[in-house]
Amino acid sequence: MNIILLAPPAAGKGTQAELLDEKYHLNHISTGDLLRNAASREDDFGKKLKEIMASGALVSDEIVLEMLEDHLEKSANQNLLFDGFPRTIHQAELLDEMLEKKNDKINYVFLLDVEEDILKKRITGRRICGKCNSVYNVNVEALNPKQENVCDKCGEKLYQRVDDNEESFNIRYQEYLEKTSPLINYYQESQKLYRIDSNQRKEVVFDSICKIIENNK
Ligand code: AMP
Repeated sequence: MNIILLAPPAAGKGTQAELLDEKYHLNHISTGDLLRNAASREDDFGKKLKEIMASGALVSDEIVLEMLEDHLEKSANQNLLFDGFPRTIHQAELLDEMLEKKNDKINYVFLLDVEEDILKKRITGRRICGKCNSVYNVNVEALNPKQENVCDKCGEKLYQRVDDNEESFNIRYQEYLEKTSPLINYYQESQKLYRIDSNQRKEVVFDSICKIIENNK
């Protein structure tokens, strides 16, 4: 079972990926996490990546695909859960090619649908654990950490992403509309797209996703 989580910024991809991973034991691949990891290097490449990502623009397809292929080579290839990938039609086409070569395919594309004003509120309140990547939100009561700025799961300090501000959000949202939202039609045509109302609590969203998976088993 291979899954794609398709969504605008701060719609809850990371949170749903974590829940799906816990329940179905998937190989969770977040291109955002892979890129943040590469951007933390002090060399020229790391600095350039950091700059692009902080601005809210997408990183080039070449860089993302090279990083992804490298990561897939080193990890288990079954039950892939893509979080934040593909983000362009070109990435989607290359992913299809990569999977076809292995006689594999994408089974579900869950489109997490959230209104723009809710996304804006979520983005400025998002806090992430520096150790286990768990996601919290200080603007959403149900997603507050129990202790301010501390991860409930591992006790590590929480941090705010440099691109989680209104200015970067506006660019990220534009990038989403221009480059990523055409994927909705792409996957609708192959009847893999499931639209999930994600304006709701994370448990409700997760439940909707699981029902679709269970009904198709
Ligand atoms: P995310 O963690 O998914 O919100 O991604 C954070 C940032 O990483 C994005 O704003 C982009 O700059 C970059 N990024 C992540 N995934 C991709 C991708 N598939 N294609 C291009 N850029 C990406």
